[in-house]
Amino acid sequence: MSKIKGLVCKECKKEYAAEAIHVCEFCFGPLEVAYDYEYIQTKISKEKIMNGPLSLWRYEDLLPIESTPTVGLHTGFTPMIHAKNLGLKLGLDHLYIKNDSVNPPTLSFKDRVVAVALTRAKELGFDTVACASTGNLANSVSANAAQAGFKCFVFIPADLEAGKILGNLVYNPTVIAVEGNYDDVNRLCSEIAGEYPWAFVNINLRPYYSEGSKTLAYETAEALDWQAPDHVVVPIASGSLLTKIYKGFHEFERLGLISNVSTQIHGAQALGCSPVATAFKKKTDFIQPVKPDTIAKSLAIGNPADGFYAIKIAQETGGVIESVTDKEILEGIKLLAENEGIFTETAGGVTVAVLKKLTDQGVLKKGESIVAYITGNGLKTQEAIAPAVGAPSLIQPNLKSFQQTLKEEAK
Ligand SMILES: *Cc1c(COP(=O)(O)O)cnc(C)c1O
Repeated sequence: MSKIKGLVCKECKKEYAAEAIHVCEFCFGPLEVAYDYEYIQTKISKEKIMNGPLSLWRYEDLLPIESTPTVGLHTGFTPMIHAKNLGLKLGLDHLYIKNDSVNPPTLSFKDRVVAVALTRAKELGFDTVACASTGNLANSVSANAAQAGFKCFVFIPADLEAGKILGNLVYNPTVIAVEGNYDDVNRLCSEIAGEYPWAFVNINLRPYYSEGSKTLAYETAEALDWQAPDHVVVPIASGSLLTKIYKGFHEFERLGLISNVSTQIHGAQALGCSPVATAFKKKTDFIQPVKPDTIAKSLAIGNPADGFYAIKIAQETGGVIESVTDKEILEGIKLLAENEGIFTETAGGVTVAVLKKLTDQGVLKKGESIVAYITGNGLKTQEAIAPAVGAPSLIQPNLKSFQQTLKEEAK
């Protein structure tokens, strides 16, 4: 008996063995892991989860690995904060921040997907891992590969933030900076994946990788005393995270761990790369690819693989997909920092700005429970926020100089 039945095409439902493949040979639809939920039902319980490790591996029964976890053993189980200050500011009584900006080891939600993908890569016998990345994924693959003893190649757009480039190099993988945007990097990597026997976490291992994102929903429900919230606000790059948060709540419901899930799933994009928000507003599920131009580089995917499914989920749950300007993104970063003491990167600024916009629009209401997913750390995108935070007050090392400055500050 095994919890994994295999892979199944999301479109035509054709079944495949659980190997390193991601596209249906017949209809080119994406493949997904198929679980034996009857079997899982006999294994899983709230008590078992609550007594499990303080990491995402407490939900191992719902993750696509066959042996035991070997990578990312400290990832997940990040703080869930009742954001009272920000809530007061926005007029929301039950606003929560799920803070993956402190997720170990590389300070973004991508550590979740990589923990699962690299554990699976080991099971499938790979010795080399790789990825096409907008930044955070490369950081996580680099760090986890170093720890787990894989050879590692990461591919990034050449114009990434300094902190994200350094956050690869320090682990000493092969870092390939491509002169092009993420969509160019991804296209190239699909070609490379066909030529080399490597585990590309977000290409041939994508069915396993993407499942790691479900743990954000599981942790949310557990932290809310085994309930799903009324609303979630989720940043969208490829759209995968949004679809998996939806899946996570509904798996918990199916297994009887929570009940009456009616969570409205809202999506957040930067206006400078908003193909999903644009299609949503036009009430079409056809996504017109765009050329990204935004400070939110971690979300800058112009041709998002799961955009279609993200729109379906927003529509089905009564959610909204909104976009915000670069200026609003910086305001969002500051709003979160000044009210909750959390320094997020540009993607988190997108989420907070959309949270504010949806509150102003009356979509999110005072008495409802709302969870905003803060997926990355501000220290990685310093050049984006630097122009908006001013400078320190420079003084001479004496009391007079300090008092002079204090007087000027008070004006
Ligand atoms: C990758 C990423 C996302 C969203 O990823 P999806 O491709 O939509 O799953 C959100 N926030 C940050 C910080 C990211 O790095």
